[in-house]
Amino acid sequence: MTSVAKALDDIRATLPEGVELVAVSKFHPAEAIREAYDAGQRLFGESRTQELEAKMKELPADIRWHFIGHLQTNKVRRLIETRQVALIESVDSERLLRLIDDESARAGIVSRVLLQLHVAAEETKFGFSPDELIDFFSRKAYESLRATHICGVMAMASNTDDTDRVRADFRLAADTKARISALCPDLRGFDILSMGMSHDYPMAIEEGANLVRVGTAIFGDRGY
Ligand SMILES: *Cc1c(COP(=O)(O)O)cnc(C)c1O
Repeated sequence: MTSVAKALDDIRATLPEGVELVAVSKFHPAEAIREAYDAGQRLFGESRTQELEAKMKELPADIRWHFIGHLQTNKVRRLIETRQVALIESVDSERLLRLIDDESARAGIVSRVLLQLHVAAEETKFGFSPDELIDFFSRKAYESLRATHICGVMAMASNTDDTDRVRADFRLAADTKARISALCPDLRGFDILSMGMSHDYPMAIEEGANLVRVGTAIFGDRGY
């Protein structure tokens, strides 16, 4: 058994029913993905469009790819045109959402996305604050989307050893998603809560995550 297969086995053994695992393969070569594929993994996450495209070409067609990185507006058309992204997890602004919607309508497809919620301590310009996200749904801004299905929320906790802080971040993300569901009972298929990475996914699951994104614990260090 390869180390990748072993790591996948170990992680899967800890996942409760209903929690899906994204194997985050960014910066790892296609051979590493193939090892995971041979061990039964079909869902992978990538954070750069060019790298994703190259890997799509090289690897089996029944892989489901999630895009999890910051998506630059000038890369949207090409990403949509690949027609192979199962879920864009990292929609971090309304502007990007509108652009994805326009390009998806143009390509004649429906894109599935998560809205990225910013709950971590670190300063970043990426992601909706909880208030912004609540505002977006209060305005029913999603009703004007033609070719995009918002399937839920993605969040990252603070990068810290302070487990209380990490748990508070996960709780805030879960609470925000629950508030949105209460606010918009007509919202369909708003089911996914993507949170938790190699070092914190067990806690994310305790706080309600049903999709976890694990890279290092499967493939080892990315070496950057
Ligand atoms: C890289 C990355 C991950 C995986 O992180 P690991 O610590 O390697 O498990 C998860 N989510 C996002 C958004 C990432 O960019």
